[in-house]
Amino acid sequence: MNTTEKKIQLKGLTLTELQDYLISIGEQKFRGAQIFNWMYNHLSFDFREMKNMSKELLQKLTDTCELQTLNLITTQDSQSTGTKKYLFATHDGMNIESVLIPENERNTLCISTQVGCPLDCKFCATGLMGYKRNLTPGEVVDQYLLAAKEKGKANITNIVYMGMGEPLLNFETTLKSVEIFTHELTKGLSRTRITISTAGIAPKIKELADRGLRVKLAFSLHSAFEDVRIKIMPINKKYSLKENIDALKYYANKTKTRITFEYTMLKGLNDRMEDVKAISKLCGSLPSKINLIPFNSIKHMSPGGISSQLEPTSLKDIHQFADRLRDNNITVMIRETQGDDIAAACGQLAVKTNSPGHNTELAQE
Ligand code: SF4
Repeated sequence: MNTTEKKIQLKGLTLTELQDYLISIGEQKFRGAQIFNWMYNHLSFDFREMKNMSKELLQKLTDTCELQTLNLITTQDSQSTGTKKYLFATHDGMNIESVLIPENERNTLCISTQVGCPLDCKFCATGLMGYKRNLTPGEVVDQYLLAAKEKGKANITNIVYMGMGEPLLNFETTLKSVEIFTHELTKGLSRTRITISTAGIAPKIKELADRGLRVKLAFSLHSAFEDVRIKIMPINKKYSLKENIDALKYYANKTKTRITFEYTMLKGLNDRMEDVKAISKLCGSLPSKINLIPFNSIKHMSPGGISSQLEPTSLKDIHQFADRLRDNNITVMIRETQGDDIAAACGQLAVKTNSPGHNTELAQE
């Protein structure tokens, strides 16, 4: 169990863990389901709202447990797309962000699993921030619960683990939060509405398949060539593309799901004819589709090295690239840029400072 200031974080406990905790403090098991219902269906952030509990139990919970792991500091709305960015503060003075993306009938909440990220992908603002720590299960689910409180639970239809951090490097927390989101008592989201996105931690992809959650999986491809991928995604040195593709085939086969390849379009680097051929070969080898993503500049963060040289492929060239892939029978989507006016688009999430007293300053263009 996670504690902050020696208090138990009730958010983020699975139902079984919650029941075990209540039994351990002399309460009855059924209280677990009641509290679960208050937290995840009534979106309760105050023990006093739990009307079907005795005063003694509520006092005990107030003294020993905490119900809220994050504070919502501010929100920003994109004028162009309706995308909304949430800035949260943790109890130890860290900041994280989530993004709510409206798209047709869907409202997808993009959540974070780490403060910063250790993987240092060269096209990503979060990578430039460096890594601070893993989020707790409570901090992961509270991003959803606080956004749901603000927006209405019915108005969040999908969750993607595509915010700050690499979810498979915070593996147990990610799985526990999925278990809570999809629990029948949460009356929440089916597994088909949840997508975990990974930069490629091959052994964990296989383990995810073996754990049986059967959520959708997105893989940050960005190049179908090992040498180019190493340049822009250093994690490829540890887990090669080949190793990851083997793991993705295992995942697709075991879960009977289709893999989504994420592909940020970088001028002259991964938008050539030879890239079309390599992607077509790769996508043809397993059930998959590919999302082409316009590159959102991170030059406002004054990066050095290869990051400073990256340029976006023009929209016209992205469409041509997509047509060439479709000629080879590949399923292709072009992702619309969502919320780049508030630095909420793909790869733009970054909090400038993470120290107490400076925790509301956002990295902005
Ligand atoms: S793209 Fe994802 S894995 Fe890569 S640095 Fe950014 S947050 Fe981390």
